[in-house]
Amino acid sequence: MTSLLVTGAAGFIGSHFVRHWTARHPDDTVVALDALTYAGVESNLATVADRVTFVHGDIGDGTLMQRLLREHRTEVVVNFAAESHNSLAVLDPARFFRTNVLGTQSLLDACRQVGVERFHQISTCEVYGDLALDSDEAFTEESPYRPRTPYNASKAAADHVVRSYRDTYGLPVTITNSANNYGSHQFPEKVIPLFATRALNGERLPVYASSDNQREWIHVLDQCEAIETVLLKGLPGETYHVGTGVEASVGQIADCVLDELGLSAARKETVPDRPGHDRRYLLNSDKIRDELGWEPRVPFESGLRETIRWYADNRSWWEPLLGRSPIAEGAWK
Ligand code: NAD
Repeated sequence: MTSLLVTGAAGFIGSHFVRHWTARHPDDTVVALDALTYAGVESNLATVADRVTFVHGDIGDGTLMQRLLREHRTEVVVNFAAESHNSLAVLDPARFFRTNVLGTQSLLDACRQVGVERFHQISTCEVYGDLALDSDEAFTEESPYRPRTPYNASKAAADHVVRSYRDTYGLPVTITNSANNYGSHQFPEKVIPLFATRALNGERLPVYASSDNQREWIHVLDQCEAIETVLLKGLPGETYHVGTGVEASVGQIADCVLDELGLSAARKETVPDRPGHDRRYLLNSDKIRDELGWEPRVPFESGLRETIRWYADNRSWWEPLLGRSPIAEGAWK
């Protein structure tokens, strides 16, 4: 039996992970912590409410973190907590550095003081900067960090802090850098739910002028299995990339949303790019596949169509969230 602290547990990936872990490891105890920012949705944990202890709190609150680690004899910490929306970071970068860097450092320090068997950091492909659209390169775990936006820089800084706690204090850390996730329960500011909810509300889909920009996509359930694999089989001190090699442009995503909902391509509207809009990310994920035996399982097109249908069938989940985002897309103009 293992005792876990999962932070950012009411968010998109964190809540999927808590549901996944409790289903796979029913004897483990899970403390699900979340600051419930605009992006945190406590009802995401409703189906496991009797299985986990929910704590409303901030990873930057070192006293609270130490108390939780001691009270629950936590062995494994999985840190999903973050400000995660690139567009918001353009307008309000300070909150990204506060949570993603200083918050992570505070959580790491609590782990160092109390002692844990594993600290796992959820990171992103975006720390490496971008690739040319026609590049035949893919980022490896050894690629240099070249973040280009405040969100990416804050995540890159957090990774450096995590590694500094490994090298300086011997904290047993692991990091996964993941491709773009998609699936149910993603806050409707992110591109797939943004397009789906706009389409379902009879509105236009705001497609950036650089609609050819590519993203690598991974279904959130594959992501949860990858994190589980790293927690169970990964080596302390190591970083693992989590990707599928499947790329699709923002324009292709918009077309698929409209096709699945039986709507006309005329619903697309070109909008100016976000400043610092990265062209392309692609991860080389050989290490987690070869060394730990993880493989993604959800095919992209069927996973994407099923996700779009989920938004069509679950208006009551996303409608109350529409007014909560602190910015509207394009607010930097
Ligand atoms: P999300 O915005 O849906 O969830 C983040 C959660 O963290 C929210 O519930 C929020 O309330 C909580 N939170 C924010 N600040 C906090 C704080 N100070 N203390 C405690 N909780 C706090 O984001 P997500 O898409 O689920 O991303 C989760 C993690 O995965 C993030 O670290 C993100 O950088 C990383 N990631 C996401 C993707 C993706 O495609 N979504 C890809 C790679 C990496």
